[in-house]
Amino acid sequence: MNLRPRPQWGTIPWKPDSYGRSHLGLPLDVWRPQGRCTLLIFAAIHGEEPETTYALSRALRQLASPSEHCAVVLAANPDGLIRGTRGNARGVDLNRNFPSRDWLPKPVTHRSTLEEPSDVLLSPGESAGSEPETQQLMALIAELQPDAVIALHAPLACIDDANGSPLGQWLAERTGMPLVRDVGYPTPGSLGSWGADQGVPVVTYEFPLAATEVLMHDHVPVLVELLTQPEFSQKGDATTAFRGL
Ligand SMILES: [Zn+2]
Repeated sequence: MNLRPRPQWGTIPWKPDSYGRSHLGLPLDVWRPQGRCTLLIFAAIHGEEPETTYALSRALRQLASPSEHCAVVLAANPDGLIRGTRGNARGVDLNRNFPSRDWLPKPVTHRSTLEEPSDVLLSPGESAGSEPETQQLMALIAELQPDAVIALHAPLACIDDANGSPLGQWLAERTGMPLVRDVGYPTPGSLGSWGADQGVPVVTYEFPLAATEVLMHDHVPVLVELLTQPEFSQKGDATTAFRGL
């Protein structure tokens, strides 16, 4: 692993590219890999899950040079992140806005905490794929053509992989969290549903409910491994490259 010494972990030593703008005009940034993109990892498509951005940033800041194979998006929903909302600035749950075959126009619900009922309403968008953040993330995926996409979320404490791929199996073993085929409730218009339609494997990495310090201790090293494992640089399907690990 080509990592920087600890005193240099405060900054990201190279610049991202912009892949677009949010509704409020904030940059949608991607830290591109040096070589062919086999993995895209993104955080905070839900703006009230800032721990995903923090953990992915901490992992990225340990690298001495850009990942060979992995593209990184620290905030897929920057407007939601700065406002602390799950949805974007237009009140749309971006992870229900993808133009999948199962997209539905009716409002979607979520829960504020795990103990509360799922009764807080958001829009899935005026139409499938209506939001700029959704459109530009899809365009980025189309451009990068990664073998797999890893979506960071919280706090369901599981690895959600509809394909049960070797990548999902590795993440489950590495994190000690269960590998599941779905999160237990319908998610029409999610990136995972759209990816399944498009043939883009999506693995959802759900952090557990835990103190920030615990999350960083347990999950930043996993993210560093994803960014640096040379197995991911191999040509072919990154989801099968993990068989050898
Ligand atoms: Zn989420």
